[in-house]
Amino acid sequence: MILLDEIRTLLRDARSVAVLTGAGVSAESGIATFRDDDGLWSRFKVEDLATPEAFARDPKFVWQWYDSRRVDIAKAKPNAGHFALAELERRVPNFTLITQNIDDLHDEAGSRNVLKVHGSIWTLRCTVCSHERRDRTAPLPDLPPKCDCGAYLRPGVVWFGELLPQDVWRQAEFAAVTADVFLVIGTSAVVFPAASLAGVARDAGAKVVEINIAETPISGRIDAFLKGRSAQLLPQLVA
Ligand code: NAD
Ligand code: ZN
Repeated sequence: MILLDEIRTLLRDARSVAVLTGAGVSAESGIATFRDDDGLWSRFKVEDLATPEAFARDPKFVWQWYDSRRVDIAKAKPNAGHFALAELERRVPNFTLITQNIDDLHDEAGSRNVLKVHGSIWTLRCTVCSHERRDRTAPLPDLPPKCDCGAYLRPGVVWFGELLPQDVWRQAEFAAVTADVFLVIGTSAVVFPAASLAGVARDAGAKVVEINIAETPISGRIDAFLKGRSAQLLPQLVA
């Protein structure tokens, strides 16, 4: 296992750094995670909300839930962890931030090269035609929102059982394969294929460092596990 100081040195010497973030990075901005005890899924069943079948069955119910998340996320501000990652990007020659988060807080913190493998809650996409738009209105005036073509719009996020956007995913894999250092932060590492990236990076020779308040399925198979809150540890790594 390597120590904080050694990780700082690794980051300073790296030509290429890739980072995978999950809901834990936004927890300290007040956005509920999915799998912690107070997480969203402990109050709702995922299969009632975040699947294409659920939307086909009851689009209004699914939209009410996403709309309430949009209202909550609209109030959230990036935290010290988001800002530290934006700072790291400015120092490393090749830097890629791969996020499972749909809240856009990395962009708000100033990160530039962000791959949103699960989409964005601020994107609305037509279920029939190719129309897609950014819309930060929260709450939305009418649910479900409709496209000009008359069909329902859906949240521009990836639901369970759906493919990831393939161009974005290919870039994420490329970043993992070419990284000297791969950071995995605030993700339960159980949602695939995103969770496979740490193994991909490691097999290709990267040093893999995880930051989480609790151990995950990958913690035993990487180079360093830093136990703690990302808003506290990330600024220390980048200092
Ligand atoms: P998850 O809820 O499954 O896991 C959260 C992880 O973060 C846990 O391992 C937990 O121990 C850790 N954690 C909690 N607080 C932390 C902190 N302060 N510092 C460091 N680690 C902390 O989240 P996930 O792995 O991202 O799950 C994947 C799915 O959840 C994704 O599809 C994502 O789109 C969705 N999601 C996104 C958001 C968001 O955009 N903010 C919020 C909830 C869920
Ligand atoms: Zn349409």
